Amino acid sequence: MPESRLTDRFGRTVNYVRLSVTDRCDFRCVYCMAEDMTFLPRQQVLTLEEIARVARTFTELGTEKIRLTGGEPLVRKDILELVREIGRYGLRDFAMTTNGSHLPTMAEDLRHAGLHRLNISLDSLDEDKFRRITRTGRLSQVLDGIDAAREAGFRGIKLNTVVLKGRNDEEVPALVDFARRKGVDITFIEEMPLGQITEHDRGEAFCSSDEVRDIIRRHHDLVPATEDSGGPARYYRMPGSKTRVGFISPHSHNFCATCNRVRVTVEGRLLLCLGNEHSVDLRRVLRGNPVSDDKLQQTIIDAMDLKPEKHHFDLNGDVQILRFMNMTGG
Ligand code: SAM
Ligand code: SF4
Repeated sequence: MPESRLTDRFGRTVNYVRLSVTDRCDFRCVYCMAEDMTFLPRQQVLTLEEIARVARTFTELGTEKIRLTGGEPLVRKDILELVREIGRYGLRDFAMTTNGSHLPTMAEDLRHAGLHRLNISLDSLDEDKFRRITRTGRLSQVLDGIDAAREAGFRGIKLNTVVLKGRNDEEVPALVDFARRKGVDITFIEEMPLGQITEHDRGEAFCSSDEVRDIIRRHHDLVPATEDSGGPARYYRMPGSKTRVGFISPHSHNFCATCNRVRVTVEGRLLLCLGNEHSVDLRRVLRGNPVSDDKLQQTIIDAMDLKPEKHHFDLNGDVQILRFMNMTGG
């Protein structure tokens, strides 16, 4: 695998790409989407071949890690074919973030298709609360999906929980115990101000990682993990358990200095930063005539100059980023 040829103006090397494969989803989580969403027309969405070409080009430029996300990646038709194709590129790490609802039937096939790791979102262990947060989700399906993933033998499984005050903050200890019982990791995420939502006030629902850590410390010792996760999450270990507890704190802990990642939306917009609008249109190059691999490579290399130094999220001010998380590829 070549060394990464993607370096930005601040000396950061980009070797991790998150590819959104759809903006659609079978859930409507209150922090991610409006209840009534309009999704993109098909011609604006990259084909599976175009997504694979983007993935291959990044790999040729030295990317070692790819994560497929969305929307819900498992609602995209023929997603297994894409996983099989990208699985051939020899990545060091090939992962997916999913809401888990399709894992009961798909976990084993995904593993065989070459996927290494899964992040599964789980915000509540209470059926009613789960339904209120996801609006359309069924908890039992997701719990079955987590078990199916464990049986399929992935290299790693991690749960993702967005903590909202008054919604699921008091469930934090139960979620940690659940992760311990299942032998998987868990990461608690501060809500980010992506997309204009009306369902709740983000300032009021905000629960900082420090608060979550204090809640967990009432039940378990948390020892900072020595290994570097290489990402925005800070990890802790608990004595007597293999489960690691992570915290992603875009508000209370700015992780931009070590940012090694970029995102590609399902429309083929290369986003240089989660919290800024700097982007480059790859779809235009992908659909250009003549088709040129060199041009695609050069466009990606040049785009690195646009990567901003840091994001600024403001809880109480206006929404700075109008795109929803399902458009961004969380
Ligand atoms: N549908 C898949 C899922 O839910 O895991 C993948 C896409 S989802 C956008 C990726 C992750 O982003 C999920 O863990 C979700 O909880 C998180 N997320 C969505 N909106 C968010 C927001 N406004 N702030 C923080 N995390 C968010
Ligand atoms: Fe769908 Fe994931 Fe967004 Fe929830 S967080 S609405 S599951 S894309």
